[in-house]
Amino acid sequence: MTTTNPSTAEWTERYAGALMNTFGPPKIVLARGAGAHIWDADGREYVDLLGGIAVNALGHAHPRLVTAVTEQLQTLGHISNFFASAPQITLAERLVGLLGADGRVFFTNSGAEANEAAFKLTRRTGRTKIVATEGSFHGRTMGALALTSKEAYRAPFEPLPGDVVFVPYGDEAALEAAVDDTTAAILVEPIQGEAGVIVPPRSYLPAAQRIAHEHGALLWLDEIQTGAGRTGTWFAHQNPALVDAPVVPDIVTLAKGLAGGIPIGACIATHGSGKLFDPGNHGTTFGGNPVAAAAALAVLDTIVDDDLLARATTLGARLQQGLGADARVTETRGAGLLVGLTLAQPKAAEVVAAAQDAGFVVNGATPERIRMAPPFVLTDADADAFVAAWPAILDQAGVSA
Ligand SMILES: *Cc1c(COP(=O)(O)O)cnc(C)c1O
Repeated sequence: MTTTNPSTAEWTERYAGALMNTFGPPKIVLARGAGAHIWDADGREYVDLLGGIAVNALGHAHPRLVTAVTEQLQTLGHISNFFASAPQITLAERLVGLLGADGRVFFTNSGAEANEAAFKLTRRTGRTKIVATEGSFHGRTMGALALTSKEAYRAPFEPLPGDVVFVPYGDEAALEAAVDDTTAAILVEPIQGEAGVIVPPRSYLPAAQRIAHEHGALLWLDEIQTGAGRTGTWFAHQNPALVDAPVVPDIVTLAKGLAGGIPIGACIATHGSGKLFDPGNHGTTFGGNPVAAAAALAVLDTIVDDDLLARATTLGARLQQGLGADARVTETRGAGLLVGLTLAQPKAAEVVAAAQDAGFVVNGATPERIRMAPPFVLTDADADAFVAAWPAILDQAGVSA
C-alpha cells in the first residue's frame, strides 16, 4: 500500500469535520469488499456478518449485480415517473407473484419511504388509527417515526403524525383489545430486527390477520428487514418456522436486501388495498428507476439460480448452533440469516469490539443482544471461522457464564 492513501485515523478525523454527527464516530472506514469480506482503509480484512444491516444479500461486488447495474445504466439510467420502463414493470410483477396474491406496487428509495407510502395508503381507507407494537422500528422520517415506539428516537421530534397506538409485541390479547372498527391497519414486523431479533409466537401473525379482518382493518407487515429471502423464504410471513397458518397481508413493505445494496423500497398492497391511491395521491422522483429495478431483478434471479433461500436456512442454523453452544449465550433467536444472540451479561458493545479486533463484523442491537445478518454468499468456512473464534471473543469482552 502506498503511503499517500489516508489512514483510518485521518479519514475518521475528516469524517467528524464533514458529516453530521447522527451516527457517532464510524467504527471502521471501509475501502472495498468482495463476497462476504471487507477491507478497511488500513488494508485490514474482516468477515462481514452484518451485510450492511441485512442489505448485501449477495455480498460485495457480486458479478451479477455489477453486470445488471452496469448494463442498465448503459442502456437507460433514469427516466422520471412520467414514463415507465421494463425493469420497473417486471419487478413489480415478480414481487406480486412472490407474494402469491393479486396486488399493486409503489416503488421508493428506502424503507422509511416505503412505510410512508403505506401509511398514506392506510389513510385512504377513511380511517386513521394505526395499531403498532412496542419495540417496533419503522424508520426515521416523520411518518415512519410516528409508527416507531422508541421514545429516545421520537421525543426530540414531537409532535409526530398522530392516532398511532402501541401494544406489546407478540401479544394477541393486546391486539384484540386495541383494534376496533376505527382501526385503519395493524402494523407489525414478522421479526423485530432493530429490537434485537425478537421472534413472536407462530400464531401471532395469523391472529393479527384475523383480528384486522374482523374489524375491516388492513394487516400491514413491515418486511423491510425480513423480506427478500432473508429468513429463508421470500417473505418471513411465508416461513413455516414463523407462522402456523397461511397469512396474506394487505400491505407489505420491503427495502434493505431487495436490490442487494442499490437503494430501493417497495410498498406492495394486495387485493382492493392496491387500488386505494388515485392519480396524484403519492409520488417520487427516483422510486422505481430502471437501475434499482434491474439490480433487484438480478438479486431475485441469483437467489433462485444459486438456491440461496435454502442456503440462508442451513447457514443460519449452523451459526445459531455453533454460537449458541457457548454457555455465555443464553438464547439464540431468528430465522435464516437473521440471527440474534442474548449474552449472559449486557456486554454487546464489548463483544462487537472484540469481534472486530478478531476480524469479524457483527452488531450490538441492544446492550444484551448481538445481531447478525450476513450475506447469503457467506461460505461455510467463514461461518465456521467465526464459530471457532467466538469463545475467545467472549473472553476478551469479559462475558462470563
Ligand atoms: C431498516 C428498517 C426500516 C427503515 O429503512 P430505511 O431504509 O433505513 O429508511 C424500516 N423498518 C424496518 C423493519 C427496518 O429494519
